[in-house]
Amino acid sequence: MSERTEINTLGEFGLIDHLTRNIELQNASSLLGVGDDAAVIDHFGRQTVVSTDLLIEGVHFDLAYTPLKHLGYKSVVVNLSDIYAMNATPTQIILSIGISSRFSVEALDEFYEGVYAACSKYNVDLVGGDTASSQKGFIISVTALGEVAPDKFVKRSTAKKGDLLCVSGDLGAAYVGLLFLEREKKIFLESPDVQPDLEGEGYVIGRLLKPEARRDIISFFAEKELLPTSMMDISDGLSSEILHICNDSNLGCVLYEEKIPVAEDTRNAAFKFQIDPTACSLSGGEDYELLFTISQEDHDKLVLNEQISVVGYMTEPEAGQHIITKSGNKHPITAQGWNHLTSG
Ligand code: ADP
Ligand code: MG
Repeated sequence: MSERTEINTLGEFGLIDHLTRNIELQNASSLLGVGDDAAVIDHFGRQTVVSTDLLIEGVHFDLAYTPLKHLGYKSVVVNLSDIYAMNATPTQIILSIGISSRFSVEALDEFYEGVYAACSKYNVDLVGGDTASSQKGFIISVTALGEVAPDKFVKRSTAKKGDLLCVSGDLGAAYVGLLFLEREKKIFLESPDVQPDLEGEGYVIGRLLKPEARRDIISFFAEKELLPTSMMDISDGLSSEILHICNDSNLGCVLYEEKIPVAEDTRNAAFKFQIDPTACSLSGGEDYELLFTISQEDHDKLVLNEQISVVGYMTEPEAGQHIITKSGNKHPITAQGWNHLTSG
């Protein structure tokens, strides 16, 4: 049996102290971190980008199959993804938690291990937070701050007609990973003796439980002096995100199904559930890839970057938003995704 230390043996201040005792600030912009009434940040003439996420147990995550360390990691990464999606570099996070007595100090330590692993990987400082008790579920609020050179942040509303529509990485994996974990949870609840069968599904499950934010793509833009005309991260499925860019930029678009990047592992895993991998990309969520538009003149700058796929282009608004299927049919893109596709 592993040890269990009750949170109330430390008290609130003792707990905060315990959770933040090893912080060493990494960024010059972090002038003052945990321990005072507020943190102090100086982005030295660069602009500050801020984003926040609230995660609620049972709504956004399920502790039945989410290891706490992964949850800590993911809570940070999904927030950093929003900062990168502005073409900015994250520098600080503020993390607040609501916890019930169901949690031990050891459990929280595991969660924070993941939090600090993400902070270290992405070079951000944890500079503050709040700790409160919750009656039942675990509640996590993460606010990320980042910096960007003046007026180099990239919005959703500034795509232009004729721009190329691009995505990073591959899509649909996290959703298929979720299907596997939900299936195993159901089987476990019905017959706890059955061993989970997740053999060979490491890729899709990893994409759900331990996503990464696309810092590399933002660095690539800087290196190539490429400024996307619009950008956002893909957290709710490609269809809904494309419609955001189209609506906010007042444009239509054409998306080619055959250009949507889907990993071989995702394709195979989706077929096990007899679902279409394209539908997973369009309507699944939690991929945390970047969706962006670039001017056609910049197309050559993408050459050799295998992490970026051109999936379509922007049109005048009157043309609407459409997907061209592999078989050459044209369908409107809908926010709830588009599931009528028979793969072929
Ligand atoms: P206050 O009563 O002013 O809200 P707290 O006692 O909650 O102050 O916080 C004291 C310090 O500890 C602050 O710097 C705050 O940002 C930090 N802090 C509190 N909870 C956490 C946490 N879970 N993680 C990191 N820092 C925290
Ligand atoms: Mg407080």
